[in-house]
Formats: sequence, C-alpha cells, structure tokens
Amino acid sequence: MRAVFLDRDGTIIEDMVYLSDPERLRFLKGAVEGLKRLYSAGYELFVVTNQSGLKRGFLSLERLLVIHRKLDLLLRREGIIVKKFAFCPHHPNERCRCRKPETFMVKRILKEYPDIDLEESYTVGDKYTDVLLGQKVGTKTILIGDRDAGKARPDYIARDLLQASEIILKKG
Ligand SMILES: [Mg+2]
Ligand SMILES: [Zn+2]
Repeated sequence: MRAVFLDRDGTIIEDMVYLSDPERLRFLKGAVEGLKRLYSAGYELFVVTNQSGLKRGFLSLERLLVIHRKLDLLLRREGIIVKKFAFCPHHPNERCRCRKPETFMVKRILKEYPDIDLEESYTVGDKYTDVLLGQKVGTKTILIGDRDAGKARPDYIARDLLQASEIILKKG
C-alpha cells in the first residue's frame, strides 16, 4: 500500500509553537482538501510529529491526546481517516531514536503496516527534518513552503497540502 507520512504543525494545522489548547487548533489553507484527495486516491495517512513541548513542560500527554482526538474527529467529519498519530515526546537533548529526522516513528508504523511500499510513498512537511526523515526511510519527499528550501533537498516543493496532493496524484 501507498502511504503519506505527514508532519502536523505547519503542514496540517497552524504552527502555534507548543499548541496545548485544543480550541486553538486551526487547519492550514488547503490542508483538509489535500488530505481528502490523498485519502480518496487510496493513500494511507499517518501523522508523524515531534512534540518536545511534552518534555519542555508546555503541554501534558493528556492534552496532546485530546488535541489528536479532536484533529481525528474533525478529519473524520470530512471523511478522512488518519491511520495513526505518531509523536515523539522527547527533548532534543535526549537523543532519542524517534525525534525527526530520526526514523523510529516510521519504523514502528512499518512494523504495524508491513505492506507499505516506501518507494511509492511520500513524506510531507514544512521543515528540512521532515525531508531528511523521508529520505532516510526511502520515500519521496515534499517540502511545504519555503522556510527550509535552502537547506533541504526535497523531490518537490509545494505551497500547501493541497498543492502537495496535486503533485502526488499527478506523479504517483
Ligand atoms: Mg512542522
Ligand atoms: Zn523521541
């Protein structure tokens, strides 16, 4: 199966810098429509997000799970199913195996969904660490926005998730 590994903050929802209040969750322009197109085309969707705010004390695990439940609910109302919300709770200093660009979050997903064909899959995010993650695990990569365009070498650059979905559906 084909998958899209999606960054959360700055890709699907507005990057609030350690979002802890579910009421402040806002979709970015084109995000819902882009996800809808990918899901309709048969891509399995996975959110893969660094949440060091947990270790930094900006949000609790409970809050994070509430936010992901709300995000899941809002997307389901649009007919979009996200298979899993994977997150890294660690501080960068901990040098864990899951904080992007490290690959453990995706590795764990692959263990659960061994049918994912990485070469036919994409990693999409707004930072070079998202692009690096995708390159490490062997997917194609799309950088959202131009924030890290000088640093990352993605396969494609898109304005938003809608444009990213158009690229994916066109290039396959
Ligand atoms: Mg991001
Ligand atoms: Zn981690």
